[in-house]
Amino acid sequence: MSTRAFAAHSATTPLAPFSFARREPLATDVQIEILYCGVCHSDLHQARNEWSEFAGTAYPCVPGHEIVGRVTKVGKDVTKFKAGDFAAVGCMVDSCRTCPSCTRGLEQYCTHFPTFTYNAPDKHSGGVTFGGYSESIVVDEAFTLKVSDKANLAAVAPLLCAGITTYSPLRHWGAGPGKKVGIVGLGGLGHMGVKFARAFGAHVVLFTTSPNKIEDGKRLGAHEVVVSKNAADMAKHASSFDFVLDAVSAEHDINAYLSLLKLDGTLCLVGAPEKPLPVAAFNLLLPRRQFAGSGIGGIAETQEMLDFCAERGITSDVELIPIQKINEAYDRLLKGDVKYRFVIDMASLKQAA
Ligand code: NAP
Ligand code: ZN
Ligand code: ZN
Repeated sequence: MSTRAFAAHSATTPLAPFSFARREPLATDVQIEILYCGVCHSDLHQARNEWSEFAGTAYPCVPGHEIVGRVTKVGKDVTKFKAGDFAAVGCMVDSCRTCPSCTRGLEQYCTHFPTFTYNAPDKHSGGVTFGGYSESIVVDEAFTLKVSDKANLAAVAPLLCAGITTYSPLRHWGAGPGKKVGIVGLGGLGHMGVKFARAFGAHVVLFTTSPNKIEDGKRLGAHEVVVSKNAADMAKHASSFDFVLDAVSAEHDINAYLSLLKLDGTLCLVGAPEKPLPVAAFNLLLPRRQFAGSGIGGIAETQEMLDFCAERGITSDVELIPIQKINEAYDRLLKGDVKYRFVIDMASLKQAA
């Protein structure tokens, strides 16, 4: 089926209209008309080929992995969805389903590599996968999520990446009552991290480079907000945290955050800057600190997170944009000027062709 989209055609040119063919739904596939797609900083990294060593970009590249829409057609063996239902798709559309990670529900760590929603080898077309900056998508029901029809769907879309990427490590490292938890960077991921850490009952401290985000940080759930450029304020928190989640998209001094950890505390990186971050050995050695990473979350945990959010009334704070403003949105992301996730209203795509 011919599908309208926006694509990056090279690392240095703006995203522009593009169209391609989606497959007709196979037996276990769900076809979804995309209503909203969140704009993740990963889309920008990938469109501009900033992760060339890990995953070089194949052009044209259609980004987008925070997808919410309406089911338009299902394959004959589909049991979870029917036409008219709301459905969501996150960062993965498939995996090997048999390796030790997949059988534990950790498809994101598939030893054969998951099929990411965009810029991954497409098992069906033989080309690469195309993501959510498009009018529709076809995904196996095993990788399709259920969303509540009561929520504001535009504000649900960012849960599919920003939400699960912060929910999963906060759960894994036990952020909860009695724990002091830091969130670094108040962007798309960071603002969901603040909301979840607060909802889980931890004492939450936000670290931001932007003094103008102090009030928002508190409104979103932080007990304390520290402007990280202020060394004296940083020093007050030295060696006091159980867990710090770093969601910064650019080069920054990781040692400043390692020194916030107490004995056996963990700093988990979810931000994926283009360049390596140097670590000073003694910041890890004394007092036995851990430096970890975490990637999105498995399908079952993503559904658990969506259900948790529906129950607690948690959504993302979003700024709705037409797809024609996507290049402007990328420029604003680079300036940290987003409150706190851009979401594309996909109805705008119909005016773009
Ligand atoms: P975003 O909305 O652009 O937020 C990033 C935030 O980082 C900014 O708002 C800013 O917060 C802070 N920041 C930016 N430049 C900085 C600098 N030079 N020094 C210090 N702080 C800086 O990005 P996002 O969509 O949340 O994504 C964040 C990162 O996570 C990206 O690298 C993305 O690729 C990665 N990511 C990883 C996963 C995963 O599975 N691990 C999943 C999704 C995204 P303040 O203004 O508060 O300082
Ligand atoms: Zn993402
Ligand atoms: Zn696997």
